[in-house]
Amino acid sequence: MSEPAIQPQGHIGIRPDKDTFLAEENPFEAMMERFDHAAQLLNLDPGLYKVLRNPEKQIIVSLPVLRDSGELDVYTGFRVLYNTSRGPAKGGIRFDLNVTLEEVKALAAWMTWKCALVNIPFGGSKGGVVCDPTTMSMAELERVTRRYTASIIEVLGPDSDVPAPDVNTNERVMAWIMDTYSMHHRHTVTAVVTGKPVEMGGSLGRREATGRGCMFVTREALAKLGMSLKGARVAVQGFGNVGSVAADLMAKEGAVIVAVSDKSGAVHNPQGLDIPEMLKWVKEHRQLAGYPKGEQMSKDALLTVECDVLVPAATENVITRKNAPQIKAKIICEGANGPTTAAADEILEKKGIFVIPDILANAGGVTVSYFEWVQDRGGYFWDEDTVNRRLESIMVRAFNEVAVTTEKYKVNTRIASYIVAVDRVAAMHRLRGMYA
Ligand code: GLU
Repeated sequence: MSEPAIQPQGHIGIRPDKDTFLAEENPFEAMMERFDHAAQLLNLDPGLYKVLRNPEKQIIVSLPVLRDSGELDVYTGFRVLYNTSRGPAKGGIRFDLNVTLEEVKALAAWMTWKCALVNIPFGGSKGGVVCDPTTMSMAELERVTRRYTASIIEVLGPDSDVPAPDVNTNERVMAWIMDTYSMHHRHTVTAVVTGKPVEMGGSLGRREATGRGCMFVTREALAKLGMSLKGARVAVQGFGNVGSVAADLMAKEGAVIVAVSDKSGAVHNPQGLDIPEMLKWVKEHRQLAGYPKGEQMSKDALLTVECDVLVPAATENVITRKNAPQIKAKIICEGANGPTTAAADEILEKKGIFVIPDILANAGGVTVSYFEWVQDRGGYFWDEDTVNRRLESIMVRAFNEVAVTTEKYKVNTRIASYIVAVDRVAAMHRLRGMYA
């Protein structure tokens, strides 16, 4: 037998030196571990392997921002373009105190694999600003957004890098990015950013797209197990744009939402929670805590609650080797990016849990971002039904491709997703040739 072309610099499975949670929770390492596994199975040529292990471009900026008090603060911002071989870089911007360059690199790589997996013509990028938007006024938020946009303006553009919302950013922030970019370019450029308000070139269905995509792939996974959304018991961790929409749409299809959580706590009701009412509660109280129609439970307990489907829809590293053994769900639908560590993957696989990995489960958002970019460039807008129908067809196709690859390579669904994605990015590089 010939030697495998690749000697992974990482290691497949749990490394002995990775026995600390610190290493387990490094998102870039977690991404690399899965990438290495896929690369080895694909027998990726060593040169390309090296290329795909490194981000194309990493930008770090210092952002002076005037506070309402008159004081000047300086924030740190990042933008990483991981790979642009398949098209313009695409990826969200998050405003959060925990943002680091390592995290942004991992998230940019995930965007690369995600866009390739659903086969849309984008590369992958991500951005972030280290700040706490909950302590900032609207005016301060606007100044941070505009200064960040201006500081990375040379990489932005409909043909080069197209941001979108992510943790703690929304339509309002995207509108400021569009305006700032357009002012610098002396004409309106709607396609420079997606997730905009519908009135200014946003797409119908974009706000719900990530949650809707989660619903579609969960429906497909349940069908594989001989079940349906009707009557399925679902627990959702995170009640933001992804979790709340996924819960709402799954409930509309007949699922029983037995528990949901947000930063403030979790609510449990085995009989089923009334999601539209909870959405109203959260709008009014700005948090779930205190919602009366269910028992309050700890956020950690939600992850191991009795249910058929668990939807982690908040941030990275919530399913670790510590809690994975206690998880009771049959299916995990990863609405968030990177919610499961590599070590936890092995435990879930042994338990026979069907994982719909992040780069598939939450790809609905970027898929409708792609529709938005197409509509902006064409100047012709689709009705919501068309958007949702086209989203469904892309999500179901990607789900089936992952299912076929899982069988073919006898690997878990996450590695199968990476195999499909990495293979597509590699194929593009081979066709283009390397300017080296
Ligand atoms: N932030 C979202 C994600 O992680 C959406 C990215 C986009 O639409 O470009 O997939």
